[in-house]
Amino acid sequence: MTKNSKKLTSLDQIGEFGLINLLSKNVRLKNASSIMGIGDDSAIIDNSDLQTLVSTDMLVEGIHFDLSYFPLKHLGYKSIVSSISDIYSMNAICNQVTVSIAVSNRFKLESIEEFYLGINLACKNYGVDLIGGDTTSSNKGLVISITAIGSAKKEKIVKRSGAKINDLIVTTGFLGNAYLGLQVLEREKQVFLVNPKSNPDLSKYKELIERQLKPEARNDIISFFHENSIIPTAMIDISDGLSSEIIHICNSSKVGCQLFEDKMKFSDLFKETCEEFKLEPTTIALSGGEDYELLFTINQNDYKKIKDDNKFNVIGHITENKDLFLNLKNKTKTKISSLGWKSF
Ligand code: ADP
Ligand code: MG
Repeated sequence: MTKNSKKLTSLDQIGEFGLINLLSKNVRLKNASSIMGIGDDSAIIDNSDLQTLVSTDMLVEGIHFDLSYFPLKHLGYKSIVSSISDIYSMNAICNQVTVSIAVSNRFKLESIEEFYLGINLACKNYGVDLIGGDTTSSNKGLVISITAIGSAKKEKIVKRSGAKINDLIVTTGFLGNAYLGLQVLEREKQVFLVNPKSNPDLSKYKELIERQLKPEARNDIISFFHENSIIPTAMIDISDGLSSEIIHICNSSKVGCQLFEDKMKFSDLFKETCEEFKLEPTTIALSGGEDYELLFTINQNDYKKIKDDNKFNVIGHITENKDLFLNLKNKTKTKISSLGWKSF
């Protein structure tokens, strides 16, 4: 697992409790709401008059990640980011996480420590406390389960179901970069399998690969909403691709939408790489997953609050007619169908 020839420690040598002690050694609770963390039968959270939000994700080796090109530290970081993104997408703050792992004896202690370096870095960057978890063995591979816990005032929580007719549909950042990063990594893996001596220069694709290996969650957008007194009418994080996320919002809200292809923004590197892979940028933005950007709807009266900020991209509006349309650049329109990222 690690490149140097230093002697590695097998997990049996240290045992389950030894491992938990080691992994929790440097954990310090920072949030006032974290009353009790690792070390008892249960953690304790005090959210006083706020509502509590809970979201769980499970990640399985070979299904959700491939360790042949995914460094364990990045995997730890991304596991936390993808979980807390589900709390932010409710317009809430994330304060705590629990991390549970099942590991096979193929993994050495040093590898698990690498994984936790990523976990701890993400917790630090996002101001989240690690307050517990579970540790067990697996017959094969690594399984990770993360539970993210957040809080918000009841009237600020944003669901998928609140989009209203004529609301604007807005996305943050660039979409599709994580999917293209994955294509680059998969291609290099194939090259490496044929020629293990290959040492490719991937620096050209940095922005795309980084989005795949070390994505960030948009808590900055949640802060922006609070500072500018914006409460979106509906919101979701874009983990599965724009098309399946807009379908979720429209179905939950019992409305339709008109999206406009010419309003979608792509970076130059994204466009060049799409050309190189013979992929169509709009299709990738619609169906590529794992960008962890936000998709939300707002009342038109709030447009003035976001229009001068290039983090935001208004791509369409909500309609009474329940059909979902994408208006293409060639002046034709197409119905949006779910091309989302499927684990199964
Ligand atoms: P129990 O037998 O009550 O489930 P454990 O021995 O599994 O207790 O866990 C002891 C403490 O360590 C608990 O506070 C638990 O939340 C925490 N813990 C266990 N595994 C992990 C882990 N992988 N990451 C963080 N905390 C953990
Ligand atoms: Mg346990």
